[in-house]
Amino acid sequence: MISEKMKPLVANNSVIRQMFEEGQRLAQEFGAENVFDFSIGNPNVPAPDSVKEAIIGILNTENPVKVHGYMNNAGFLGTRKAIADNLNERFGTDFTERNVIMTVGAGSAINITLKTMINPGDEVVCIAPYFVEYGNYIRNYDGVPVVVSSNPEGGFMPRFDELEEKINEKTKAVIVNNPNNPTGVIYPEEIIKELATLLERKQKEVGHPIYIISDEPYRELAYEGAEVPFVTKYYDNTIVGYSYSKSLSLPGERIGYILVPDESDNAGEFIDAATIANRVSGCVNAPSLIQLAIERCVDEKCNVEYYERNGKRLYDALSELGFSCVKPQGAFYLWMKSPVDDEKEFVQAAKKYNILMVPGSSFAGPGYVRISYCVSYEQIERSIPKFAELAKEYF
Ligand code: PLP
Repeated sequence: MISEKMKPLVANNSVIRQMFEEGQRLAQEFGAENVFDFSIGNPNVPAPDSVKEAIIGILNTENPVKVHGYMNNAGFLGTRKAIADNLNERFGTDFTERNVIMTVGAGSAINITLKTMINPGDEVVCIAPYFVEYGNYIRNYDGVPVVVSSNPEGGFMPRFDELEEKINEKTKAVIVNNPNNPTGVIYPEEIIKELATLLERKQKEVGHPIYIISDEPYRELAYEGAEVPFVTKYYDNTIVGYSYSKSLSLPGERIGYILVPDESDNAGEFIDAATIANRVSGCVNAPSLIQLAIERCVDEKCNVEYYERNGKRLYDALSELGFSCVKPQGAFYLWMKSPVDDEKEFVQAAKKYNILMVPGSSFAGPGYVRISYCVSYEQIERSIPKFAELAKEYF
């Protein structure tokens, strides 16, 4: 018999995962080249060769007891130091290995952060539309998700007046995801500054820290050289969650980290508690072999041009067909307005052409659909005539 807490999760099993499975079924029926699966954020770009070479090199040269053994629950010292050094070089910061805790991807980074900071009933703000798992992660620790909307006319930037109203003594954190899944927008420096100023003031009012949890799996995926502000520089109580799932195409390896800056409230205590949270969550530590590979590949570049090209082609083609799309600035998602009010109806209609998209209501963004274009360029090209047939139903 399953727990009461699991029942709603089973009932609302992830639409994205269901789509992904449907895509695989359709591919078997019609052939993979005739299915246009834009559902999941699983990068089509292979991991860099250097990752493979690093893994082979580690297996050939390192002591297997080290490679496959337990280590400090925060992760290998060398890996954490390499990450701190890389961040310092890029962002002019002064982190050490002590500030970095290796985690099982960004999902685990956020879970461990939440486990470390929230008491039952504490509220965590999510800015809609948002990555649907945030709500589940918050509820894992009996926290309460509070949704603040963003402004479609203003490029899906957060509505600060609403944020101002919704923050209260119970507010523990605001999750910020930049570049954004699902809208593909980047919050520029002035938005992060405005958020920081508001939260500084609110912290004083409520008398306790209000954290920014900066969820950054798409940090390097910024187009046309756009700057993604590094949030710790603007707001002391920032906890960063990072992942190599997207930047190095390693989602199945489950590797990421938490960054806790010294400037954050009681940083030492937080780091110790988060390290224990990593252990007692059952993860114990991030997978060892891929940690060692990351240490060797930390300076590897993300293939941003690939996604930029895909995003541009799809945005131009769909806009030309009459669809209204948000121009992607980063990540690898196109956020498109549904031509009918009920976007689920539109998603159903697209399935007739073997086009799979995710309804915006799965991200608390009804009326829109998310098109995940981390697919091959050929899939995009082949899908355009199908999108044209779909468009004819509406325009
Ligand atoms: N946060 C966002 C915004 C995501 O889009 C994803 C994955 O798609 C995650 C977190 C989870 O990343 P990971 O696979 O590293 O756990």
